[in-house]
Amino acid sequence: MKRYDAVVVGGGPAGITAALYLCRSGLSVALVEMLAPGGQILKTEHIENYPGFPKGINGWEMADAFAAHLDAYQLDRYNDAITSMVFDSGVWSLVVGKQTLAGRTVLVCSGANPRPLGLPNEAQLTGRGVSYCALCDGNFFRDQVIAVVGGGNSALEEALYLSRIAKKVYLVHRREGFRAAKIYQDKLKATPNIEIVLDTVVSQLLGDKDLQGVTLHNVKTGEDREQALEGLFVFVGYDPQNAFLPQGLEVDAKGFIVTDCEMRTSLPGLFAAGDIRSKQCRQVTTAVGDGATAATAAFSYLEQLEA
Ligand code: NAP
Repeated sequence: MKRYDAVVVGGGPAGITAALYLCRSGLSVALVEMLAPGGQILKTEHIENYPGFPKGINGWEMADAFAAHLDAYQLDRYNDAITSMVFDSGVWSLVVGKQTLAGRTVLVCSGANPRPLGLPNEAQLTGRGVSYCALCDGNFFRDQVIAVVGGGNSALEEALYLSRIAKKVYLVHRREGFRAAKIYQDKLKATPNIEIVLDTVVSQLLGDKDLQGVTLHNVKTGEDREQALEGLFVFVGYDPQNAFLPQGLEVDAKGFIVTDCEMRTSLPGLFAAGDIRSKQCRQVTTAVGDGATAATAAFSYLEQLEA
């Protein structure tokens, strides 16, 4: 079993930053990531609120730059899923694919996955008209009629992106007020091919093999109406990627990891950073800050063990 000072789980902005800081502290580091480095920024067309980029930066460009920065350092990379982790005699053992890694500290930066609407035939129609990634699938709906569900930053940002591809975009939100930043709300209202449908939920997905439309249910009037659509993009929040987390770890009601301000969790040698953490503000900027803080706290923890 290969043993490391620190095992970082997740290769998004939090994980890459944590790994970078740990390597620079002279620790032995493993980075476990399922796919290519970048995490959710790989699915984001344009990032406008990262300081230093007043015109914004493409998600893939930022992911490439993060990955290239880490390439300059010595660490082991594992491209596999982590399925479980246990703490025994001061060391964490992590099952990663078919092997087991040992870490004196573990930094969980595993992020979150798009939350589905929870409708009966949603899984069956995913990839057949239903999508959770505008950047990945938007181009399939060029000049077509689509809808976006949600009222947060993701929904509005992605509706604006999709409005440049699709003929018409319905933005369906379950209440009147938006959670998204005002700058996105203003842009949304100023976009002629976006129609905002408020106080409304998608109550049914229509179609067997491919999505043909949806039933829209107005939660105020109780009215139902069918809307023909070629595509439906769902952005109703994210669920934590937490299936592998150990027993006894403190998480919030939604399953996000509770930490203190140094990113320490309720278990020894275990730190969390980025979107997997229980917090209000989930941004690239906050993920990067979390990653740096977690790495610094992990380094201090190891120093104290040796003192
Ligand atoms: P979010 O902020 O949690 O918003 C989720 C939206 O979906 C809310 O408007 C919510 O409605 C709605 N919703 C939830 N469950 C629903 C359901 N079952 N049916 C219909 N609507 C439902 O999620 P997010 O927009 O994905 O953002 C996640 C985090 O990433 C946030 O912290 C966000 O600020 C951040 N983010 C930032 C940027 C940026 O700064 N550019 C971009 C993307 C994401 P209610 O409002 O009624 O609860």
